[in-house]
Amino acid sequence: MERLVRSCYKQKSGYAFAKKAEDIAREYGIDRVARLASNENPEPLSPLALKAAEEALRTVNRYPDERVNVLMNALRQHYGDYHFVTGVGMDGVIETLFRTLVEPGEKVAVSTPTFSFYALAAMGQGAEVVTVPREPDFSVDPKKLIRAAKESKVTVLCSPNNPTGNATGTDVVREILEAIEGVLFLDNAYVEFSGIDYLPLMKKHENLVLGRTFSKVYSLAGLRIGYAFSPRWLQPWYNRAGTPFTVNSVSMAAAAAALSDTGHADRYIVQVKRWRKKFAKDVRFPVLPSDANFVMIDVAPRSGDEVVGELARKGVIVRSCRSFAGLEDHYIRVSVGEDWENERFVQEINAL
Ligand SMILES: *Cc1c(COP(=O)(O)O)cnc(C)c1O
Repeated sequence: MERLVRSCYKQKSGYAFAKKAEDIAREYGIDRVARLASNENPEPLSPLALKAAEEALRTVNRYPDERVNVLMNALRQHYGDYHFVTGVGMDGVIETLFRTLVEPGEKVAVSTPTFSFYALAAMGQGAEVVTVPREPDFSVDPKKLIRAAKESKVTVLCSPNNPTGNATGTDVVREILEAIEGVLFLDNAYVEFSGIDYLPLMKKHENLVLGRTFSKVYSLAGLRIGYAFSPRWLQPWYNRAGTPFTVNSVSMAAAAAALSDTGHADRYIVQVKRWRKKFAKDVRFPVLPSDANFVMIDVAPRSGDEVVGELARKGVIVRSCRSFAGLEDHYIRVSVGEDWENERFVQEINAL
């Protein structure tokens, strides 16, 4: 029966998931595994978010509010008078955005190496994915991206970029926005760790969509909730294309409450800034400069997979960058976790 499955899914590999901590613990008989592969905030969710989620659980016999009002109001209170769209993680937002805008056969330009889901989601929409390689230092040449973007319905740029960690400045993003016809989707999953403010661009450019997530700094990865700053024209069409009731009532309540607990987010941001510096100083391999809550490390002449395997045996889970198309196979990506996890990582990688 497999002949019935669409060929696009058979040609390409799927999303690469991190190895499970429980599996590694069992395999190697380790009781405490350092989980540094998925860029999550190691601190549990804010108590305010927990309370709101518990409260919302009481009414899950009813369908959620399709307008997602509790979260929309919280976002406006937090950021000001913008338009937002929401989804099942930012991944859900990306999927719905493509569904709203991209006809089969149209082009989606993606600045690479980067997060793999853009290409998977675009492909699912029947789009032709055009990859635009970054420069050797992983910066973005706006001229190159603009050339591909001019022929594309949507262009995707991740900043700070996963997995390289570097951010693209607002001047470069502005240059791109001013030159292109289609939409620029700027993935801001890690923007809280960068100190860069892209919001002023939102006011001036009606072709900018700024993707955000509650999975990283807000400790809500398991609740699958994301959103985007959207131009006003896009919002009703996005809602029409989207799956009905896609954001559940527990997630929207938790996310709204999480926004108000700035102390929770700030604690992790401080931790991230401290450990980015420590990694750069203490790890004996080259650590690339990062604006995110992870660092990419060049482990040449070893391969990413080899180092990830060796660290796993020591109970430290990090991410091999082999699956990021367009990147040579000698990099690993390491999230900033709790102190003991980061310390274990430094100790084990230096002992390789
Ligand atoms: C983690 C991540 C996301 C989205 O995560 P969701 O959990 O789907 O909100 C989006 N983009 C990048 C680059 C990421 O690393």
